[in-house]
Amino acid sequence: MVVIKTARELSKMLDACKISAEALRVAGEAVKPGVTTYEIDTVVRKFIEKQGATPSFLGYGGFPASACISVNNVVIHGIPSKKQVLKEGDIVSVDVGAFYEGFHGDNAYTFPCGKISANAQALLDATKESLYEGIKMALAGNRIGDIGNAVQKYVEARSYSVVRDFVGHGVGAKLHEDPSVPNYGTPGRGVRLVPGMTIAIEPMVTEGSYEVEVLEDEWTTVTKDGKLAAHFEHTIAITDNGPKIMTLCD
Ligand code: MG
Repeated sequence: MVVIKTARELSKMLDACKISAEALRVAGEAVKPGVTTYEIDTVVRKFIEKQGATPSFLGYGGFPASACISVNNVVIHGIPSKKQVLKEGDIVSVDVGAFYEGFHGDNAYTFPCGKISANAQALLDATKESLYEGIKMALAGNRIGDIGNAVQKYVEARSYSVVRDFVGHGVGAKLHEDPSVPNYGTPGRGVRLVPGMTIAIEPMVTEGSYEVEVLEDEWTTVTKDGKLAAHFEHTIAITDNGPKIMTLCD
């Protein structure tokens, strides 16, 4: 069931989204060669807690950390670890959400660690841009398929692939709500977008094939071919005045 939020609920949710966005910024500032993914997770958790909020992911489905930190060929759901030391040239996807006053915000960004290769930078640029292509289609009266199609077209025109096994989602009082928001699709198909819907659009884009596999820890999701992956996400509200990006910093 798709939950439509009132204006009052949207303004409360905006607070959770802002905290999520700021937590992501703080995470990005911590991404440096020599830093462990565990340290980044700690910075994120402390920041969220300092705002009086709760990390949305901590304990969600048993996830053991506050942020998913996914390096290089890891697409999503990487578990922060004291053993994982970032090095120059890594690309580091951080996905983080905060729960505040009854609502979640959810966002992700792939950060370069030091100087990265031109190939890696091109993947990051294309993935980030594909998110904005999707957001442009998040208009009242459009359908979910319009968003996915816009993302997919942009990505595939650059010879990258869009992950199929994981998708974006509604977000609100629950971290994952209806509808699913695939990063691929057919224009004019799927759930119709109406004002008050809040969705997380989150393209996961790979350099090679879109096939992924989940490792034995049951979280870490990697590209099957070992090639790089990137992940960008915003929480968006559908409004009468077009898409509103909720996960922005002040
Ligand atoms: Mg999400």
